[in-house]
Amino acid sequence: MELLNIKNLDLTKKKVFIRCDFNVPMDEFGNISDDRRIRSALSTINYCLDQDCAVILASHLGRPKGEVDKKYSLAPVARRLHHLLKREIVLASDVVGEDALEKLNKLECCEVLLLENLRFEAGETKNDEVLAQKLASMTDLYINDAFGVSHRAHASVERITHFFAKDKKAAGFLLQREIEFFGKLINKPVRPFAAIVGGSKVSGKLEALINLLPKVDKVFIGGGMAFTFLKQLGYDIGASLVEDDLLEDAQHVMDEAKKLGVKFYLPVDVVAAEKFSADSVIKITTAQEIPRGWMGLDIGPATVRLYREGLNDVQTILWNGPMGVYEMEKYARGSTKIAHFVADSYATTVVGGGDTADLVQRVGIDEEMSFISTGGGASLELLEGKILPGVAPLIIG
Ligand code: AMP
Repeated sequence: MELLNIKNLDLTKKKVFIRCDFNVPMDEFGNISDDRRIRSALSTINYCLDQDCAVILASHLGRPKGEVDKKYSLAPVARRLHHLLKREIVLASDVVGEDALEKLNKLECCEVLLLENLRFEAGETKNDEVLAQKLASMTDLYINDAFGVSHRAHASVERITHFFAKDKKAAGFLLQREIEFFGKLINKPVRPFAAIVGGSKVSGKLEALINLLPKVDKVFIGGGMAFTFLKQLGYDIGASLVEDDLLEDAQHVMDEAKKLGVKFYLPVDVVAAEKFSADSVIKITTAQEIPRGWMGLDIGPATVRLYREGLNDVQTILWNGPMGVYEMEKYARGSTKIAHFVADSYATTVVGGGDTADLVQRVGIDEEMSFISTGGGASLELLEGKILPGVAPLIIG
């Protein structure tokens, strides 16, 4: 798949709109805990600035539900960009409102304007034509460098591309790199190929799991999503996270895995807590014997050993989603131990998703991964063989 290349755009002295993915994780003090997504966008931004462009940056952050919510302001991102780019970042107080337009009018070549959180506009997630048109009218050229959101048909990702001819839009360097990497991974994965899938919910990853099954040899489930599978197997999971309406779907995933000969691993023990809290009393129990009212918040030591055994011979590992509530030290051990194992392995190791990227960075092994993708959902959809709505309009031909 070849994409419209930023190098073929006539950028000099133009206004260029770059859709970035600055949806970065924040710690409990409101500081950016992992700025990988911001750093990953720098090569495209710098390239445009080097061509004397006036740069308009746009991103979403969190889920503000279509209205202004100061908690999700891009102000911390503007400050981090200022440090990284070593130049002034003008932050608009709205997206397409008076302030953004006034600041846009004053924007000169080599200056950077950052619009406020795109999701302060209800039209963004609705792929709204009017919002897309307003955004498009701010600029001469459009670049998508937001891999992490390219699987969403949103106004600044999909609808906006309809307003630009093929020589006026392109994929940024980050988007190009991600698409190229996953293209190779889909076409020729070195086998055995294992997927480690964790995180909180089955619902978000169910379709991806089903579509991944024909492509992988082994699947290792962790995190909150494991309990829907364990409950379906008839285990008493206490008060652990569960999606009761998806029990049948969980069964379907397990049946499909069996049919396809994919080895499907589930936790055999857990770190169970009396309450969802960093200072709760904890117990290590087998998956069959979680006490009533307790919740499994991490995989246990036997599961770690089992998963290490199962991962020993694999040549490619895709990891998406933490094994437990890694944000709290007590429930981070399973994820940390798996992270060290993955880092030490000689397999090609691919990490996808904000939380998993954050996790490997916290553990300090990010440099040892073969590839850290800035998009969890997007990378899963690519591996399923889907063409992402934000990428389709940028394909040559
Ligand atoms: P996701 O966004 O679906 O990838 O989920 C990531 C989140 O899952 C992290 O914030 C973890 O704290 C959370 N998580 C992982 N394991 C569990 C668990 N056993 N129970 C509840 N939440 C979990």
